[in-house]
Amino acid sequence: MIKKEYKIKNLHCAGCAAKIQNSFERLEGVKECNIDFYNKKLYIGLESLNDKENFLDLLNRVADKIEPGTKIEDISEEINEENIEEESEDNKKEKILLLLGIVFFIISFLIKSEKLKDIILIISYLIVGYDIVLKAIKNIFKGKLLDENFLMTIATFGAFGLKDFSEAAGVMIFYKIGEFFQDLAVENSKKSIKELMNIKPEFANIKRFDGKLEKIDPKLVQIGEIFVVKPGERIPLDGVVVKGISTIDNSALTGESVPVEITEGKEVFSGGINESGLLEIRASKNYSQSTVNKIIELVQNAGNKKAHAEKFITKFSRYYTPIVVGLAVFIALILPIFVGNFQLWLSRGLIFLVISCPCALVLSVPLTFFSSIGKGSKLGILIKGGNYLERLDNIDKVIFDKTGTLTEGKFKVKEIVPVNCTEEKLLELGKAGEFYSNHPIGKAILDYKNVEVEEGNIEGYIEKPGHGIIARYLGEEILVGNLKLLKEFNIVVPEENETDTVIYIALEKVYMGKIVVADLPKPSSKKTIEDLNKIGIETYMLTGDNEKTAKKIGDMLSLNIKNIFYHLLPQNKVEILEKLKKDNSKGVIFVGDGINDAPVLALADVGVAMGKMGSDIAVESADVVLMNDDPYKVVELLQLAKKNKRVVWENIILALGIKIIVMILGVLGLADLWMAIFADVGVSILAVLNASKILRSKTL
Ligand code: ADP
Ligand code: MG
Repeated sequence: MIKKEYKIKNLHCAGCAAKIQNSFERLEGVKECNIDFYNKKLYIGLESLNDKENFLDLLNRVADKIEPGTKIEDISEEINEENIEEESEDNKKEKILLLLGIVFFIISFLIKSEKLKDIILIISYLIVGYDIVLKAIKNIFKGKLLDENFLMTIATFGAFGLKDFSEAAGVMIFYKIGEFFQDLAVENSKKSIKELMNIKPEFANIKRFDGKLEKIDPKLVQIGEIFVVKPGERIPLDGVVVKGISTIDNSALTGESVPVEITEGKEVFSGGINESGLLEIRASKNYSQSTVNKIIELVQNAGNKKAHAEKFITKFSRYYTPIVVGLAVFIALILPIFVGNFQLWLSRGLIFLVISCPCALVLSVPLTFFSSIGKGSKLGILIKGGNYLERLDNIDKVIFDKTGTLTEGKFKVKEIVPVNCTEEKLLELGKAGEFYSNHPIGKAILDYKNVEVEEGNIEGYIEKPGHGIIARYLGEEILVGNLKLLKEFNIVVPEENETDTVIYIALEKVYMGKIVVADLPKPSSKKTIEDLNKIGIETYMLTGDNEKTAKKIGDMLSLNIKNIFYHLLPQNKVEILEKLKKDNSKGVIFVGDGINDAPVLALADVGVAMGKMGSDIAVESADVVLMNDDPYKVVELLQLAKKNKRVVWENIILALGIKIIVMILGVLGLADLWMAIFADVGVSILAVLNASKILRSKTL
């Protein structure tokens, strides 16, 4: 399938967005379609490559029919500054007209003469609602009868027909005020999410040969170039500090407010703020690969993956409106044929028309997911889509990887035990083997003591996941890894009862000795397991490490011994995950660091990866990324999912509940158009505010 992304302009009505999405889905060749109303983006999945120009044209024609003025553009076309200004001009004009209309409306009450009063009310109505009436008329010619504009026009014309001029004008004003506040609420939550994502570095101070600094776009910086970050500035690209000492505030990335101390040789991440000293940093990644850009992309694309609830609401709105309009027609035109009193039933029927828009739902349900995803990133939890949040609500098992996930993943060499050589020689062989390794064990051995190994002497490096390394050093075969690796080569190793992780080393099939390394649990791991168990979630630990180490760590974390699996290769982890998924389980989360567990991350119902230390492929195969590598974030993630669900339901019940009540009151003659308008826009505003409270509230 080919995926395409477009920008949508001038799309202001969420209901229309849903309709446009429905129509696009039915176009030939379209397999998937999603409109992200808040970011004004359109995602389309196509069966095959098509004629680009004509297709865009077709999309525009379809969209324009539904909401006149909508424009769909290729994402590559840059945002035009003028356009943005134009829109705010429009907004200003609308505000002034609305105010003017309200003034006329108030004046009408001061006037005694009925005739003059009605004229002033008509003027007020036209000032405020002329654009709605115009759009409605245009839509009639396009055969679109059920949009908001049309319904408002009919309802207010109905009021005129019933000679209630002040109701007609008042209802139109009330509707416009409602729309205004609704836009404001949406804008505000959009703004707070934007602010959250306001981590984009604006420039990089590149150090030129003559030592002068030059401000350039971070996108232009090449790997290996040196840039300077002054105190208070944002780090533009990922890199390694070559000069300077400072503390860095990474809170925008990780949600963690304690600053990190940085010295020469330390790795730093783009998006963090340099708090004190002057830093010189060598870029280790270009902008597109840097942390900050990845986070921004990830969160922006989250709207692309919609939750069932969002899809359901879009579908629901397809049926809701015609049914309620049908009821309106029945009450206003058909019922009085049998019971008489046309005027009475007409006014009651109009109420149905006003509340037939499912706006509150169409607007607030996606906004709720949007707010939750925003809240997540504030906490250092990046959620790749609303669908994952929804799935997280139904989880009964959490499976953790050990190394780097529940433990620090920072091994320290504890002991070197040579057998057929000196300690120095054993360490040299270990370092030669691990020379290219990114595994935490490899790094520990490389970091230990000053024994030099020349890169030129290493050949044929192979890293066997879950086993270790096979390579040639000075022309001889070396093996550096666990028992499994050495057994595979039929090398006899004296087995001992180790409770730490042991790396065995062999040279030319002869056992040379072992290096013992140890790794401790992260401070929050135990509480994570306990709190998950408290809410009835079963916790598991999988590891490629040996039985003793696995059990020791499991014991320290008070994990159930039955739930500890060891000696696993990446494919064994997959098998265990699949088995646990089948054991009449509701849903399984896998939490890993991506080293040797990318396949499990991808296969779990929800895969959660450690973002900072974890490998890039983990971040890609996972559904959720934890920026500060803290396993406790899994508990927060589940709380967030729960809150998200509650707010979605609150909004559905609020919106539909109030509408149904007003419908019933309307039939009984106990509700008027004013109440109907409240049930429409008033509820939308409440629902939008309710959705955005997730983002505003300090707690989960
Ligand atoms: P975990 O499942 O705990 O995250 P891994 O799957 O990454 O652990 O590794 C499992 C085991 O494989 C390690 O405990 C170690 O014995 C061995 N191993 C993997 N990579 C290496 C390496 N580069 N050097 C030495 N041993 C390794
Ligand atoms: Mg691991």
